[in-house]
Amino acid sequence: MEKTAIEKSDLAELLWESREEGFTALEHEVIYRELCSGCGLCVAACPEDVIGFTEYPKLIGKCTNCGYCLMVCPRSFLPKDELEEKTFGSSPGGTGVIEGVYSVKSKDKGQDGGFVTSLLKFMLKKGRIDGAVVSQIDPEKAWKPLPKVATSAKEIEAAAGSRYSTSPNLSVLKEAKNKGLKKLAVVGTPCHIDGAAKLKHYPVEGAELASVISTTVSVFCKSNFIYPMLEEVLSKKEGIDLAKVSKMDIKGKNLLVYEGDSEKKILLKDIRAYERLGCKICDDFTGRFSDFAVGSVDSPAASSTVIVRTKEAAKVLKDMEKEGLIELKEITGEDLPVLNKLTEIKRKRARKEAAAIVRSELPMPLKFLWE
Ligand code: SF4
Ligand code: SF4
Ligand code: SF4
Repeated sequence: MEKTAIEKSDLAELLWESREEGFTALEHEVIYRELCSGCGLCVAACPEDVIGFTEYPKLIGKCTNCGYCLMVCPRSFLPKDELEEKTFGSSPGGTGVIEGVYSVKSKDKGQDGGFVTSLLKFMLKKGRIDGAVVSQIDPEKAWKPLPKVATSAKEIEAAAGSRYSTSPNLSVLKEAKNKGLKKLAVVGTPCHIDGAAKLKHYPVEGAELASVISTTVSVFCKSNFIYPMLEEVLSKKEGIDLAKVSKMDIKGKNLLVYEGDSEKKILLKDIRAYERLGCKICDDFTGRFSDFAVGSVDSPAASSTVIVRTKEAAKVLKDMEKEGLIELKEITGEDLPVLNKLTEIKRKRARKEAAAIVRSELPMPLKFLWE
């Protein structure tokens, strides 16, 4: 088999030797090692469409051992500093490359000010994108996220809000490509954006999906949960009717669940067992490879903190301001104490978890040396 672009990287060479084991290699290198973030990219990259997804990827048909799923997976190989250099031309560490940071108030309603909804609608209207990968709620199951290719303002509006359980957003990239979309915005958590950036800079021949993506929007993320948390804890234990929940939010040490006017606080430590395992080694709070990174920390209520990492993204914000769609207030690194703290906490935790994985995989005598 001829070497593909990604295989030519020295770092990846050893890993790719196992790709010919097909889906089994993805299971052994990523899924069984509890590294899977649930991004869904392997689902879209499979030429046979034999990868299904229920919290984790699953083989649902005959695998032809092409190895694409392992090669595209952002948790099999992702040299982050190198990728940041390739994406932006520099790799400063911390919260990543920053062209500007703003506190943004938007006219649209949505989580923490509705900025993402406004941004997508504006870009769609101006022809800067022709669709967006978002997550919406499954009509069959309350608060279960479902990836969606939105191509109208109405569909974008229907996807507003955060869900706090895994949505394999990148699984719909092939659908977007098949629809003929060429300027797609990918909205997701930093791990989704990792996958989109990897696709672009480490292309895998035969699994070409990067050409559909033109913009990435990352939503700040501390950690995520598997859907059974909502059913087991919120519904069965706390007696919350998920169908009546209007909003969820993570603030400080709590998951806040809003049912009409009432707010219920669930301590994050009490639902830790339902945290997605792959989140433990996640070292990115803002989304280092995104064009736009958006969240609520360090901005007043009903506003968003928005990091733009490129001149083009900064221009989009200015154009939105000119049209009266948003109010912008420029802020600096010193105005971001919570964001900087959370970035550092995630990095430290990821390093600790990664070291534990390395330790657990060492042969016995070396294991003791490490400790
Ligand atoms: S991409 Fe699909 S066919 Fe190829 S190795 Fe993975 S599961 Fe098998
Ligand atoms: S991290 Fe993404 S690409 Fe990798 S196994 Fe999980 S869902 Fe698939
Ligand atoms: S913590 Fe990381 S891996 Fe988990 S959902 Fe957030 S960005 Fe993805």
